Order: sequence, then structure tokens, then C-alpha cells
Amino acid sequence: MPVVKAGVLALQGDFREHARAFADAGATPVEVRTPEELVGVDCLAIPGGESTTISKLARAYDLVEPIRERARAGMPILGTCAGMIVLAHEVIGGEPLLDLMDIAIRRNAYGRQVDSFEADLVVEGIDHPVRAVFIRAPIVERVGPAVRVLAEHEGHPVVLEQGNLVVASFHPELIGETALHGYLLRKV
Ligand code: GLN
Repeated sequence: MPVVKAGVLALQGDFREHARAFADAGATPVEVRTPEELVGVDCLAIPGGESTTISKLARAYDLVEPIRERARAGMPILGTCAGMIVLAHEVIGGEPLLDLMDIAIRRNAYGRQVDSFEADLVVEGIDHPVRAVFIRAPIVERVGPAVRVLAEHEGHPVVLEQGNLVVASFHPELIGETALHGYLLRKV
């Protein structure tokens, strides 16, 4: 099987950690900053970071429509934390960017940086507990009928899937947890 070219949106945030996670999961990571670079990848991770900055830069680099088109054509996308926010249909009190997954998100809903925490999660489709680092994480307030919840934490959905899209409100990439990257690669 040819090696999968796993794109990582490299505008802001922890894209280097996503690239490492894809490499550990057996793919060739490719940093994506332009529509031309997007053309060559088989899947895409949208990293954690600051969703307002990622949104501003994605618009400035003319990446919004190209990502939406690839997503609609079936390209698998993994969004973590800020990446989940930019994929959402609705950002409460804010503006959506890609509007691809039918969820409503409340940003920074667990409080401030000091309220960050870790947990081990049971995730449907993954055969071991997934270590999750929550940093100024968003909360999913509404889940559309086409969206499947793969994991919850204290009653809140924290890993969700809608067809070729997978999102997590935490950061697997920060601690070398590659199970979600592997899960995405199996969709390519
Ligand atoms: N709070 C950030 C935002 O709203 C997300 C935090 C993160 O990605 N760790 O974009």
C-alpha cells in the first residue's frame, strides 16, 4: 500500500505535534499552508491552538473553500480542540469557519488555562483508553442527527464523528497519543 500523505494545517497551534503523531501512526506528514499544498494530501488534521487566529489565517491564505470542497468530496479530517471549533456548524457567541460538522460549540467552556485537566477516555472503535489533555477546551452543546458520539466525559460528548470527519475537544497529539490519528488514517 502506498504511504498515506497526511496533511496538517500549519497556520498556528500545535501542528508539529500532529505531524509527529501521523508519522508515529505510519503516515508521511505534510504541512499545509496553501491550496496547492492541500491538493497533494490524502487527509488533514486541524490542530489545537487559537480558533480565532486559525480562522483569520485560513481566510487570508484562501484555504476555507478548498478545505470545504475536499471535505465534501470525502477527505478525512481530524480536528482537535481549536480544530473542532473551526469545523463546527455553530460557534455560540462567535462565527463558524468551515461549517462542516453539525454541532454547536461553546468555546473555553471549562474555564481558563488553570482549569486544564487530563482524563482517560473509553472511545468507541479504539481498543485502549485514550489519554486526553483538555486545555481551555470547548463544550459541545448540540449534536446533529448525522453525528455519532464516540466518547463522553462527565456527560459531555468529547469525541464525535460525522462520516469522514472526526473531532475531539482535547489534545491527543500533545502526549504522543496516536490512536485517533490511526483511526483517521483507516478512513483514507
Ligand atoms: N480556547 C481555544 C479556542 O477557542 C482552543 C484551545 C485549544 O485548542 N487548546 O480556540
